Amino acid sequence: MDLKKLTSNVKQIQDDVLKEILTLNANTEYLRGYLHGSCDKELFKKNVPVVSYDDVKPYIERVVNGEPSNVISGKPITRFLLSSGTTAGKQKIFPVNNKFFEDMSFVIALRSFLISKHFQGGLKGKAVMFFSTRPQSTTPCGLPISTSITGYLLSDSFKNRPSNGFTSPDVVALCPDNKQAMYCHLLCGLFLSDEVVNVSATFASSLVGAITFLESHWKEMCSNIRSGHLSEWITDLGCRDAVTNILGGCNSELADRIEEECNKKSWEGIITRLWPKVKFIQSIVTGQNSQCIPMLEFYSNKVPLISTVYGSSETIFGINMNPFCKPQDISYTCIPTISYFEFILADEGNKGEIVDLVNVKIGSYYEPVITNYYGLHRYKMGDILQVSGFYNSAPQFRFVRRKNMVLSVNLEVTTEEDILKGLNNATPVLKNSDLVLMGFTCYADISTLPGHYIFYWELKAKTISDIVELDNKVLVECCCVMEESLCALYREMRSKDGSIGALEIRVVQQGTFNSLMELAISQGASPSQYKTPICINSSEALAVLESNVLACFFSDKSPTNL
Ligand code: AMP
Repeated sequence: MDLKKLTSNVKQIQDDVLKEILTLNANTEYLRGYLHGSCDKELFKKNVPVVSYDDVKPYIERVVNGEPSNVISGKPITRFLLSSGTTAGKQKIFPVNNKFFEDMSFVIALRSFLISKHFQGGLKGKAVMFFSTRPQSTTPCGLPISTSITGYLLSDSFKNRPSNGFTSPDVVALCPDNKQAMYCHLLCGLFLSDEVVNVSATFASSLVGAITFLESHWKEMCSNIRSGHLSEWITDLGCRDAVTNILGGCNSELADRIEEECNKKSWEGIITRLWPKVKFIQSIVTGQNSQCIPMLEFYSNKVPLISTVYGSSETIFGINMNPFCKPQDISYTCIPTISYFEFILADEGNKGEIVDLVNVKIGSYYEPVITNYYGLHRYKMGDILQVSGFYNSAPQFRFVRRKNMVLSVNLEVTTEEDILKGLNNATPVLKNSDLVLMGFTCYADISTLPGHYIFYWELKAKTISDIVELDNKVLVECCCVMEESLCALYREMRSKDGSIGALEIRVVQQGTFNSLMELAISQGASPSQYKTPICINSSEALAVLESNVLACFFSDKSPTNL
């Protein structure tokens, strides 16, 4: 890997990428309308509009419905990707071809290189990787449509990867029944525990989900390992054959060891206890997934938590060059060869200017605008990033939040970042009562006057057999601490004229966030790409939460008002 070459001369690399994209796509219907066949950068900047999904949707839908790819893309489109779309509540569809997955393989290789650099003599061993897929369907034009992870798992890039570093056979990752897949992933991971050096999932929420699944299935798994016989409910033939093969014969010694660990009163450090050679946990823990950090730290005895890639169905964006940094220091270095990147300045009071990748300024906030190889031109990605530094001449970005994700009951604007900050400040308070936050989401309730914020919390006792005991004092204190972390206008409206009501925490039963995920999946979301929404506004999701409320707590004092 020539990191220097990849991250130096970024201006030249980006100019070349744009030239290549424009040459490829100059004669598409979309670009011809703006550029009349020209590949000139200045004309591109002057004439091609900056767009959102609704602007390009009609073009994409025409190709989906059977018109030739060259409505938008010079090279044939071979697949469509479904984005998780958790924010807008609707899934978006993006055209791609094999290059997307080749880029993904390149980034995965780059990631392995950066990780192994950290270990003298390299790192030998396997990963328990909780991959899961969604069944793919076909568009009217006959092309497959799937999530990006499913697309990758089905691609030649994945099939022909240089080595298989996973404990599970590929058929498990490809199993359309996610429950069977999860069971088999865990069983293979446990069976091969001596070889396991890392435990991974794309997003941290899937990893927490896997441990929760283990909690309810470990006895059955131990019995499978003890007898060498896989449970009958694993009916997917590919999984049955491959996993039975791995189980080989019976292994009562291993079953005893797992049983002993899982039977202990607390599951603190369970990951390192079950997989003693684990060197790190790999999972995205920035953005919405930062809420999983306390839980993962608890389960892993603080083994390094590494968050390596930032990307989307539109483009892969960046890689964490220093994967072993602390979660709060994670930044992603933009990979300039993958797409053409522009940035809209999003600093308070100074919004709107569009700059090239090389012209972003340290400390400023931006929304990326993507021009990719498959028909998106100057497309607003909807994330807000902050420039944190440079790696050679490649800018590095901290993920701040999804753009429009705000809570508001009055004139105040509460961003995702504010909410996460409030939560980070409240979780230490929870520690006093031996509780861990398993999941949260929030809602701006304006059905009563004044409106107020409701946080739904799923809590768990640190000691596995303990019942969750809710201490009124602690939870009221959590409400107060969260209010203290919100923006000045919130605090003013709440304390001065009472135009915002007291913040409320509604504690929900265990398993509620799982039901929320199942609801999203039943509506088409992908389990691997699913992220618990920070704010909820769907009435169906709210109904799930409301039917599980155990107790409510309110902030009992006004926040300080500076
Ligand atoms: P999808 O298109 O379904 O893969 O979702 C892409 C979105 O997931 C991005 O636009 C981000 O909002 C979020 N995302 C992806 N990677 C990261 C990351 N490393 N940190 C924070 N958010 C991420």
